[in-house]
Amino acid sequence: MPGKVWFVGAGPGDPDLITVKGRALLERAGAILFAGSLVDVAATLYAPNGCEIRDSKDMTLEEMTVWLLAAADRHDTVVRLQTGDPSLYGALVEMTRPLDTAGIAWAVVPGVSSALASAAAAGETLTLPEVTQTVILTRVAGRTPMPAGEELEALAAHHSTLCIFLSITLLHDVQRALRAAGWAEDAPMLVVQKASWPGAEKIVRGTLADIKRKCQAEKIGAQAMIIASPALGARDWPSLVRSKLYDPSFSHRFRPATARSPGDPSHE
Ligand code: SAH
Repeated sequence: MPGKVWFVGAGPGDPDLITVKGRALLERAGAILFAGSLVDVAATLYAPNGCEIRDSKDMTLEEMTVWLLAAADRHDTVVRLQTGDPSLYGALVEMTRPLDTAGIAWAVVPGVSSALASAAAAGETLTLPEVTQTVILTRVAGRTPMPAGEELEALAAHHSTLCIFLSITLLHDVQRALRAAGWAEDAPMLVVQKASWPGAEKIVRGTLADIKRKCQAEKIGAQAMIIASPALGARDWPSLVRSKLYDPSFSHRFRPATARSPGDPSHE
C-alpha cells in the first residue's frame, strides 16, 4: 500500500506559524520535500530522526514528481512543504495531476499566506468599513504572462486592497499600473520583506511616489510582499467609520443593539 502525499502550507517563515495539523504531519513524515529557502527551518525543526529531507530548489517538476512517487512507495506519510499557503503560486495542480495518474492519495493542509503575515507584521488591516471591502491577490507579469483582463492596471481600477506577490523586482511596473489606474502619488504603500522571520523581517512604508526609492535604499530585492491599499495607515487617521460589528447601535446574531442607530437600520 503506497503512502499519502500531503501538501502542507508552512506559513510565511516563522516556524511557529505552521498549523498544528501541518506540524503533526512533519513530526510523523518519512520524507519531506521542501520548497525554497524560507521553509527549511520548519522542515528540519519538526522532522523525526531518519526522515529523508530534500530541498526542491534545484529540481524540475518532473524530478519532484519522481521523488514524491518514490517516497510514497517507501513511506506512509510524505510531505511537500510549501511557503505560505499551497494554493497560491505553488504549482499545486502540476504536482497533484501526476499523483492522480499514479493512483497516489494526496491532500492539502492550508497555511498562513505571506500576504496575511505582511499585514500582521505592519499592524495593518486589509479591509476597512466604507473604505475597502475587497482584497485582490495578484502579481505583475514577469516570465509568467498575466491572463487577459488581469493586468494590474485593470485590477487597480477597483481601488481596493492589492497584495502583490512575486513582483518586488518589478516595482516600477507596479507604480506605472497604479498611476495609470488613477492612484494618487501620495497613496500609501507597504513592502514587507521576510514577513514573520525573527530578526530578518523588514517593513518599508512609503507612497506610490517614493516606495521604489525607499526599497532600493533598504536593499530589498527578493522575498517581499507589496501592498497598496486605501486602508493603509488607518490607525493614525483622525476619524474612522465604525465597523458595524462592534457598533453599539447595530445588533447581530450574538448581541442585541444597545443604542439606536441614527443611520442605517439594516441588520447583516
Ligand atoms: N504560497 C506563498 C506564495 C509563494 S510565491 C504564500 O501563500 O505566501 C512567492 C512570493 O510570496 C514572493 O515573491 C513574495 O512576494 C511572497 N512571500 C513569500 N514569503 C514571504 C514573506 N515571508 N514575506 C514577504 N513576502 C513573502
